[in-house]
Amino acid sequence: MNTPTDTQRMEKIVSLCKRRGFIFQSSEIYGGLNGAWDYGPLGVELKRNLKNYWWRVMVHERDDVVGMDGAILTHPAVLKASGHVEGFSDPMVDCRLTNQRFKADQIPPQTGTVFTYEFARDATPSDEALLALAHLAETDAEPPFSKTTITSLDAVDLGKRIVERRKLTIPAPSKEPDSIEMFFLSLSAELARNPRSEWEERFRLGYSVSERGVCGDPFRVLVRTGESESKAKKTAQTFYQKRRLKLPVMSLLSKEVIKETQGFNPDNGAELTPPRAFNLMLETHLGAVADESSKVYLRPETAQSIFVQFKNILEVSRKKLPFGIAQIGKAFRNEINPRNFTFRSREFEQMELEYFCRPEQGMELLEYWKEERLKFYENIGIPRSRLHVLTVPDEERAFYSTGTYDIEYEFPFGRQELEGVAYRTDYDLSQHQKASGKSLEYFDEETKKRFVPHVVEPSAGVDRTVLALICEAYSEDQAPNEKGAMESRIVLRFHPRVAPIKCAVFPLLKNKEPLVAKAKEIVGLLRSQMTVFYDESGAIGRRYRRQDEIGTPFGVTVDFETLGEKDPALRDTVTLRDRDSMQQERVAIQDLPVILQERIR
Ligand code: ATP
Repeated sequence: MNTPTDTQRMEKIVSLCKRRGFIFQSSEIYGGLNGAWDYGPLGVELKRNLKNYWWRVMVHERDDVVGMDGAILTHPAVLKASGHVEGFSDPMVDCRLTNQRFKADQIPPQTGTVFTYEFARDATPSDEALLALAHLAETDAEPPFSKTTITSLDAVDLGKRIVERRKLTIPAPSKEPDSIEMFFLSLSAELARNPRSEWEERFRLGYSVSERGVCGDPFRVLVRTGESESKAKKTAQTFYQKRRLKLPVMSLLSKEVIKETQGFNPDNGAELTPPRAFNLMLETHLGAVADESSKVYLRPETAQSIFVQFKNILEVSRKKLPFGIAQIGKAFRNEINPRNFTFRSREFEQMELEYFCRPEQGMELLEYWKEERLKFYENIGIPRSRLHVLTVPDEERAFYSTGTYDIEYEFPFGRQELEGVAYRTDYDLSQHQKASGKSLEYFDEETKKRFVPHVVEPSAGVDRTVLALICEAYSEDQAPNEKGAMESRIVLRFHPRVAPIKCAVFPLLKNKEPLVAKAKEIVGLLRSQMTVFYDESGAIGRRYRRQDEIGTPFGVTVDFETLGEKDPALRDTVTLRDRDSMQQERVAIQDLPVILQERIR
């Protein structure tokens, strides 16, 4: 969180994502569903490429890992045993003014003066008092007066009129509620001293605090050092207005200097509620009756189904320790503050490996997997220099973990976690063994001993990595247009391995049938091996630019030389343009599949 943020860059990225069809807000036409995102035609390709590469290096290219795909709907017993039902919660605080919810540990410590207000009441006269005022002011008007036409501002005017008629020495009030209350209280006292009808007494009673409305809740506001103190009163007034006092007058109970407090909303200084546990799991019900017995959870992580299937997979795969089970799939968390685009969502995907081992291998494998995972990010185009490894301190680690690393990336909104690599000891398998009564032990053929394996878990987020890929790829530079003049272009410099479209194919002119036919032939040649995009509209430079903006690494152009019109030796060759260097090389059409395959794998 201590890296500089770049709001403007992030805004450009979000807008590009929508404009070019990477990511849309879910249910957008109905105003959007907070914390859920839909991936468009390009986003889905990018996401798939990422998942496929993860699967390739974590499962296919290894002898010691097998995969699985578990159900999202999860038996409550699984999540009870894992500790999620009891403990998968964040301490949350709510702003007493706006009801905005925060994670308690995300509130920065603040220093300043705390103002405590209490005994808030409305300066606005009650309906009964208004009626009396009207009578007292309009002695020659015809009763009955309609209450609904008399507003609180009218009330001050009526009051002023009475002051004038009876020649009282009460100064006119300002627009401040305190001043208005003082005005009416003085008026009430003066009138009571010299009553001419029943209306003086009716006004006094009608303006009593109990008739006007009171709010007994005390309220505290923090004015940070350096801020204007008038903010405190305004904030408290807004608080009491939300509690139905139209013109709140408050008594200031105390004013004290406080240091490093986390009890106030950093945005507006309003008091926060005490922290409360908020369980992050989403639940639903199976079958026709929605009661406690039909409750199931949408899994909050993919890991638990791996632990629960450990024994089955061990038996069918005949693996020996150490070995791993990998899974990619959806997970759901009722996050309090979904934010930073897709970074913190309520529905997201995880790529998790549970790597089972002997107890004595745990710490060493933790190091091994941290390094493997760092290499993975480098291999998809996220340089090591933009990644940071945080050793999670003892007090922040899960109690069962004896070592955890967070791999963080420098997003435009700050340095944030991409993946956690944790040594979870034998906690999960032991918990499920205890709760289910089924043995989850491993039999060691060499030592003839049984034991519960330990596990090291690299757990990465698909959506966060996709976002990191887009942030890393986004760049703006200068490129020549058709006339050779330099103009700025947006380029997504995706590693070819993850780029949504690998190759664009262009006929130089769209109205030259042989060029078009050849280009379509090339599309047919490449299509079964990679994503290809055919584009014949507009000037060639513009077509390149459109592809640069979506990160297509290669562009193939079919020109007159391809047809052999200038030099028969060049027949069936095309230009192959590289997105980043903008260099063009001439290659034979028949070599294209091999050349491109080599570069995109
Ligand atoms: P955070 O501290 O950011 O809430 P976490 O430590 O709770 O994350 P884990 O439980 O370790 O996350 O989950 C593993 C990975 O799953 C994270 O590193 C992240 O990539 C991804 N992930 C977790 N929560 C979310 C979310 N709300 N939205 C998107 N991805 C998530």
